[in-house]
Amino acid sequence: MIPITKPFLPPLEDYNEYLQGVWQRQWLTNMGPLASDLEMKLKDHLNLKHLLFVTNGTIALQIAIKALELKDEIITTPFSFVATTSSIVWEGCTPVFVDIDENSLNIDASKIEAAITDRTTAILATHVYGNPCDVLEIEKIAAKHNLKVIYDGAHAFGVQVHGKSIFEYGDISICSLHATKLYHSTEGGLIITKDPELLKKIAFMRNFGFSGTESFAELGINGKNSEFHAAMGLANMKYIKSIHKKRRELTELYDEKLENVKAFKPKWQNGANLNYAYYPIVFESETLMLKIKENLEKQDIFTRRYFYPALSNVLPYTKSIGMPITDDISKRVLCLPLFYDLTFEEVGLISRLILRIQNN
Ligand SMILES: *Cc1c(COP(=O)(O)O)cnc(C)c1O
Repeated sequence: MIPITKPFLPPLEDYNEYLQGVWQRQWLTNMGPLASDLEMKLKDHLNLKHLLFVTNGTIALQIAIKALELKDEIITTPFSFVATTSSIVWEGCTPVFVDIDENSLNIDASKIEAAITDRTTAILATHVYGNPCDVLEIEKIAAKHNLKVIYDGAHAFGVQVHGKSIFEYGDISICSLHATKLYHSTEGGLIITKDPELLKKIAFMRNFGFSGTESFAELGINGKNSEFHAAMGLANMKYIKSIHKKRRELTELYDEKLENVKAFKPKWQNGANLNYAYYPIVFESETLMLKIKENLEKQDIFTRRYFYPALSNVLPYTKSIGMPITDDISKRVLCLPLFYDLTFEEVGLISRLILRIQNN
């Protein structure tokens, strides 16, 4: 059986070493030394000045919306994971979908202005598969219309664009460190902002709003993460380079073997590096995609329609709306297995099967 993904696990000894410290200190959560150490090491690794380690990527999004005091309409992409839209609704705001670009599969910046009304307060865009949005254009539009920008960078760990971390763009960026992501802490998320005042506010919000044992600075929630999760994050840090290398090699092999597939890969943003978080391909038709998906399953090989269906016509809490490009792409897209333990032989097998099914 070949699954679509498998979480990376560090050697158990590495994890145990961190746990011994936890047992000695008996400090399990509430921003303990491992969580602080992880924040420091990640800032260093990602070359960021500020960053906060939180419970997960979804709470990171919710805190971001709350911290920026957004109301009314937030412009967003229908081609993302449900948390992007649900966080907007959870915070009492209204998502306004803007269709995606047919090449990058990110929100189409040239269509944003037409969706802006006098109730628009922000843009929440996803760097889909880790591929940076048109951040410079979005920055310009936001400045012109006085809007805040949040980036859902759940897929974008380790991506740089125009010479700096992708997480430096927008008023706030978030990342997910969930077990299925490229780099993970079992469950976990990051909130990144360049604004020190905003960071301070978010740090209070993460911890119930406490500013002292008996005083409060903000309305808060519990967005803290534990020493056990931080330990996993720390243990995995040692392997970031080898994870990246293996995923790059697997991706390049897919590219080579699938040269004649009747599908295209999303066009990557100029000036950005790839992080090999996923292997998405968009087939020429839904029929072909389904034929391939179903026949691979017969061989115990599992792919995923990621993202399908479009968020603009599946959620019971938003009005269903047609988004021509998203509706079309989401019907044809498929992510192939890609994870650290996948072998080159397996990539060869999957690719051969895809071509055989296609040409059959
Ligand atoms: C995984 C994911 C999230 C949510 O992150 P969690 O850490 O699982 O809460 C949000 N947005 C996108 C695009 C994701 O892929």
